[in-house]
Amino acid sequence: MSYTVNEKGYYGQFGGAYIPEMLFPNIEELRLNYLEIIQEAGFKIEFDKLLKDFVGRPTPLYFAKRLSERYNAKIYLKREDLCHTGAHKINNTIGQILLAQRLGKQKIIAETGAGQHGVATATVCALMGMECIVYMGKHDMERQKPNVERMRILGTKVVPALSGSMTLKDATNEAMRHWINHPTDTHYIIGSVVGPHPYPDMVARFQSVISEEIRHQLNVEVGNPFPDYVIACVGGGSNAAGAFYHFLNDEHVQLIGVEAGGKGVDTGESAATTMLGKVGILHGSKSLLMQTVDGQVVEPYSISAGLDYPGIGPMHAHLFETGRVQFLNATDDEAMNAGIELSRTEGIIPAIETAHAIAVLSKIDFAPDDVVVINLSGRGDKDLETYIRWGKY
Ligand SMILES: *Cc1c(COP(=O)(O)O)cnc(C)c1O
Repeated sequence: MSYTVNEKGYYGQFGGAYIPEMLFPNIEELRLNYLEIIQEAGFKIEFDKLLKDFVGRPTPLYFAKRLSERYNAKIYLKREDLCHTGAHKINNTIGQILLAQRLGKQKIIAETGAGQHGVATATVCALMGMECIVYMGKHDMERQKPNVERMRILGTKVVPALSGSMTLKDATNEAMRHWINHPTDTHYIIGSVVGPHPYPDMVARFQSVISEEIRHQLNVEVGNPFPDYVIACVGGGSNAAGAFYHFLNDEHVQLIGVEAGGKGVDTGESAATTMLGKVGILHGSKSLLMQTVDGQVVEPYSISAGLDYPGIGPMHAHLFETGRVQFLNATDDEAMNAGIELSRTEGIIPAIETAHAIAVLSKIDFAPDDVVVINLSGRGDKDLETYIRWGKY
């Protein structure tokens, strides 16, 4: 069984590049060049150096002693929350901006929902002195003011998307339209393992540094590179793809993806795509997505803005279909409780996305010797308002 992409851009039945004809030249340029560029020695040296000196890698693999006692297993936290800008997303934006430079691009565009990917993109554009436009739904701009201002401070132009529900999917449409009109000088930085081939594979490769480090760090720490479990939250799926990547063919490592159950998977207000989704096409690839019987995309819901996505990347759809990854979900309340629990047992306030991964610890029957790695995708600073509004602490 293969879990990586084939030369046609598919993971099993999922993936591909379902794009308007006008975008074909852009995607084709990327497809024909991305592997050669990112495997080149000079690229790797520059990527690794920036990950080390700018992002702060390797991130620690931290043994969570009190959490381990509570759940009767050996729990390690992969500290992506300590990355510059507060989450794993910067691993990908560093990779893509280096790629854009090598393709001769001068301008960057991106879309953002909660603003986290927008900030990670604005950051690397400032770093490289490249012009940047981020499309963001007008409604999201109102909900996520601090991130809008962060992007502006970094010198990025934030353009409101005024169509539809004025949220992420509308921002994506605007970014696509911009790219069609500026195919030669502009690179589009997509923020997760979604979009047309080769984006899912490219983003997974940039994030795979997470599992590369976990293997090495576990080997040093316990004398064995293989944990019994790797657990990660799944929005589009990029932090999970990075945490799973170098364990995909080690079938004795149990991989667990955690989706947002929202108010409950049966309430109509959730983002649990593997539970509720059907095969369909969204943002340029064939995957699982939440849709009505007529194929209209259902608005997802989660208390955590980063998991509030109606689909999952094609790699994860395949990992779900083949059973290689087990998908669980956590509701808003379960995640918020887990966020408080981690804060109080380990002194780490997690992003609410990340708290969903913590929340499934109580749903798994561990043996005392089990080595469990949780990918701590981000820190909770950005979520303070949500913690305060929730209030139960
Ligand atoms: C954006 C985000 C996620 C969700 O995105 P993935 O592509 O699924 O990783 C998860 N955690 C944090 C902290 C995020 O910012």
